[in-house]
Amino acid sequence: MNGNWTQFGGNLSFVCLAISLWALFSIQFQHHSFRQEKIAFGIIAGAASIGSILLAIEFHPGIYIDMRFAPLALAGMFGGPIAAAFAALLAIAFRFFVGGAAMVDGIITMAVATGIGLAGHGWTRKRSPGLMDVALLSLALGVALVLSMAMLPTLVNAHVLAGVGFPLTALNCLATVLGGLVLLKTQQWELERSILVTAFSQSPDYLYVKDRNSRFITVNENMTRLFRFRTTAEMTGLSDFNLMSRPLAEELYYLEQQVIDTGVPLIDSTEYIEGRFLLASKVPLRDKQGRVIGLAGVTRDVTERTALERELRESKNLLSHAMAGMSDGIAMYDSNGFILFCNDQYRHAFPLSGDARVVGAHISDILRRVVETGERPGIPEGDIEGWIKAAAASLHSNKDEEVQLHNGDWRSIRTRLAEDGTAMAVVSDITATKQAEIALRLSAEQLKNLAETDGLTGMVNRRAFDEAFTRETAGSARKNTPFSLLMVDIDRFKAYNDTYGHPAGDQCLRVVSKCLRQSVSRPADIVARYGGEEFVVFLPDTSAKGAMIVAEQFARRLAQENIAHSGSEFARVTASIGVSCATGAVLRTNPNRLLTEADAALYDAKTQGRNRILAHSPNGDRPTIKEAG
Ligand code: GH3
Ligand code: MG
Ligand code: MG
Repeated sequence: MNGNWTQFGGNLSFVCLAISLWALFSIQFQHHSFRQEKIAFGIIAGAASIGSILLAIEFHPGIYIDMRFAPLALAGMFGGPIAAAFAALLAIAFRFFVGGAAMVDGIITMAVATGIGLAGHGWTRKRSPGLMDVALLSLALGVALVLSMAMLPTLVNAHVLAGVGFPLTALNCLATVLGGLVLLKTQQWELERSILVTAFSQSPDYLYVKDRNSRFITVNENMTRLFRFRTTAEMTGLSDFNLMSRPLAEELYYLEQQVIDTGVPLIDSTEYIEGRFLLASKVPLRDKQGRVIGLAGVTRDVTERTALERELRESKNLLSHAMAGMSDGIAMYDSNGFILFCNDQYRHAFPLSGDARVVGAHISDILRRVVETGERPGIPEGDIEGWIKAAAASLHSNKDEEVQLHNGDWRSIRTRLAEDGTAMAVVSDITATKQAEIALRLSAEQLKNLAETDGLTGMVNRRAFDEAFTRETAGSARKNTPFSLLMVDIDRFKAYNDTYGHPAGDQCLRVVSKCLRQSVSRPADIVARYGGEEFVVFLPDTSAKGAMIVAEQFARRLAQENIAHSGSEFARVTASIGVSCATGAVLRTNPNRLLTEADAALYDAKTQGRNRILAHSPNGDRPTIKEAG
């Protein structure tokens, strides 16, 4: 039996060698089609099986013992139906040709072994076979062999199972495991290789490997497209001199030879080829001893990127030019309230908080600086944080505001929101416009006052009086309330002027008007200068009695002033007053009657001796006389 073991060992080695050779050369077959590769695998497996039969030990005449079953099973599992068919047909045909007593039994067993392999193929159809699958295949084959030796008639008669059953089974199983391991490894290499090859050939960059003379060893598909070749093989052996102008090729050659001579990689050098901007990196390739045997290159097309970058740069320049040149301040805030950019004018527009307005600053911090420096007056002291919050929130809406600074300057701040939430703030100096506007408003108010008031006394003048008279009498008529009117005339005023001079007369008028104003208390009461030294007071919602009280009060005040008047029989300035009063009904029909009646009463006061108050009596009776002072 020892001799048998040695022979079996030789047989086993042969089978494993054949499978290993396949593993080595299978890479060559990857360039062919899937079917061709399977056929080749089938033929190799069949040949391994035949080789094993050739090295077989003749156990009995016509009964051969060998490892032929292992390649068949492996062809079935790793190669599938095509490989299995080729392997089995070859081996079975050869066994038939060899003939002998156990030919039929042998052929049946071979078919069974192939079938087991195919079953394994079906079992692992949806994935790649693994170590466990190989072990199972080996076990199944062992069982099949034992069964065939125990059941097939010729083999049973020859007592093959008892004679060589164990070594035959064990070594076939071992051959299957060993061959399977080799095939598993090959399969893994192929997978890794195909990943690398795909990555290499499909890369969007330009990839190539060159020899020491800068000739292409291999290139990826992108390279063939760039130089308009159909296959990568067409470029093998070519150099840059075949592809581009001589000066350019010489320049590249020089650079590559430097990489090869010095062993220092060239990283991201720019090339301009065929109108495209390229960024090339070239790394030396070394053999096991560390000698440089060529270089591997990666070139990236950055034409679009370069163009985009240039465009961006140009528009940035344009923008910053425009921003620097404009008179307005401009700032862009991102959606979170941080400054993305701003020009100097924006900073200068805010003299106290300008230094806080820089790229990256947050609106809240800027506003806090505004508060701290007092740049904006009128911020509620109690709720500074609330104000900052509200002001910061205004960045999130379109807003136009005009703000006044500590120094009286005015700024207009226009905030505009973009779709992505960024806010653009444009700040203009509107101090001049604002001041003109304020001046205009003031002078408009002054003009109105001038038109309505008397220059000397500051009282409502005659024109405004007429308006007020119409308005107020109509109001009282509507409300059906009494309306009273005083007509006041300074006594002997001509004489006063003559004695003391016109300026003193004017001063006297001022004092009289002051006394009049002090004598009325209700907001609706109106005192007007009616003529030279005549005044009219009207008292809405006031009865004749009330009017008398006002008149008396005035006379008392004037007496208190005690303005000396040598030309007067009273030795001081006095006034005569006519009082009239109308009810709602009279006011509706003839409000002017108030004036004529007051005038008549005044006339009476004069004729009766001056310095007195006379109320017009509605019945024409004796009027109420009140001697003042
Ligand atoms: P009486 O009313 O008591 O009958 O005598 P009178 O001297 O006041 O008489 P009259 O009403 O005729 O005189 C009005 C005078 O008032 C004429 C003018 O000298 C003076 N006068 C009128 N307007 C002004 C004024 O604006 N300033 C000054 N200083 N005097 C004025
Ligand atoms: Mg008069
Ligand atoms: Mg007078």
